[in-house]
Amino acid sequence: MICPKRTSELLDLHLAPFKDKDPAWEIGVSKIAGRGVMATRSLKRGEIIFKDSPLLIGLAAHEEDALNACTVCLKELPDTKFMCRQGCGLPVCPLCAKKKQHKTDCDMFKSWGPNEPEVANSVIIRLLCIARAINLTKDQRDLIYCLQANLDNNHRTEVRNAAKCFKNFPTDKKLIEIMNRTVAVMRTNGFDKTTDRTNDNQEFNYRALYPLFGVMNHDCIPNSYYTFDEKTNHMVVRAAVDIPEGFEITTTYTKLFTGNIARHLFLKMKKGFTCKCPRCSDPTEKGAFISGLYCRDTNCTGLVVPEITGLPHPNWNCLECKQKSTHAQMMKSQDFASGAINAKSNSNSLKTLVQYLNEKCASFIPDSNYVVIDAKITVLQRLQVGREDCSEELAANTRLRYSRDITQVMDKLGLGDSLLRTQWEELLRREEERRAKRQAEEAEKQRKLAELQAKAAEADKILAAFEAEQAAEAAAGTSASSAGDPATAPAPPPLAESV
Ligand SMILES: [Zn+2]
Ligand SMILES: [Zn+2]
Ligand SMILES: [Zn+2]
Ligand SMILES: [Zn+2]
Repeated sequence: MICPKRTSELLDLHLAPFKDKDPAWEIGVSKIAGRGVMATRSLKRGEIIFKDSPLLIGLAAHEEDALNACTVCLKELPDTKFMCRQGCGLPVCPLCAKKKQHKTDCDMFKSWGPNEPEVANSVIIRLLCIARAINLTKDQRDLIYCLQANLDNNHRTEVRNAAKCFKNFPTDKKLIEIMNRTVAVMRTNGFDKTTDRTNDNQEFNYRALYPLFGVMNHDCIPNSYYTFDEKTNHMVVRAAVDIPEGFEITTTYTKLFTGNIARHLFLKMKKGFTCKCPRCSDPTEKGAFISGLYCRDTNCTGLVVPEITGLPHPNWNCLECKQKSTHAQMMKSQDFASGAINAKSNSNSLKTLVQYLNEKCASFIPDSNYVVIDAKITVLQRLQVGREDCSEELAANTRLRYSRDITQVMDKLGLGDSLLRTQWEELLRREEERRAKRQAEEAEKQRKLAELQAKAAEADKILAAFEAEQAAEAAAGTSASSAGDPATAPAPPPLAESV
């Protein structure tokens, strides 16, 4: 284990420009693994625990990316003439071309002699974030060496491949070792556009290393969550739940909604450890049944879960009829459901996907299964952009229903705040507001209608009264005129009869 005290000292130097005078955390010995970040006082849910700045940051420059972004300010550039004119092989904006950071990058890469300096090459641009470690101060480099590194056979591949893109790539073992080590640390603790840390529905488009964050240990139900400040790329870490003094502050390295088996495999393969948190030790995942499947016996309505946790190919057990199934048998059901739902997710019609989820899925996959949750998240994300071919009403109902479903799963898992939860809660709040507004509008319409009807009734009454009056007047007029006007008066009875 790397000494917590030395890590603390190096982190203090790194955070010096913006560290709190009285930080709510310290580096200490962890019950989970090695050292970790501990709360020095009790923290309230939502409270900022710390801010971290990237020790290294650069463009992720994945093959599918457009490569016309500045390697210093990371901003997108017009897609012509964005390469440095000095021949370093890096894209840079005119403003940043004059900055010290580019001068350092430029001198280093120029001396390595890129094969085609005028062509943007993703391998070279991607390497920059790693190669910058060479020009850090000794303390900063020591801090990188303080962090966990996944030193498996693959960690040398990146630098080896990048070397082919330069004419005079350094052969100095020490420099190569610094870069390889940085790659290994990045793979364990860093952020990369495509890494699996997209667990919280937020995009991070760069490759970066946040050292204090790197010291935090993993828990599948983390008690903190993070966001990024778009302008400074600072990371802000907040309490997801109330954290008592002395407790370890944890984060998650995996997606929140993957099942036990997938998380176990990912952590083992990519991060090199086995998680023993309460969620991982519970086949039902705290009753959330994220990997639950239907019993293969069609007469049984029970859910099937892995028999024990922590195995890549466990047997599965029905909780109702106790029937056992092999992993392969259950994976057939899961693969079928995933295939069917993903096909609908990838189709263009949002309405089709929603109808499929609402009407068809429950017949072959439990609502709690991660593939259903993922599809619902996809729907909510698409609805945030626009409602596509959904009617206003379907979109509104879906927003309400799915965000409720997802927050319920979070509650079952015991997940506190996260960006995802904040987003869905905001969505729920807005949808409920919209609903209340619509109801108020409807009530107002009804009130106006009633008012109009009342007025109409009043008018009818007045009219009726008027007509009655007219009729009465007409009647009265008839008798008056018969008295006064002999011409219209009935003829007097014949005299003879009256006698
Ligand atoms: Zn720039
Ligand atoms: Zn340059
Ligand atoms: Zn776990
Ligand atoms: Zn069963």
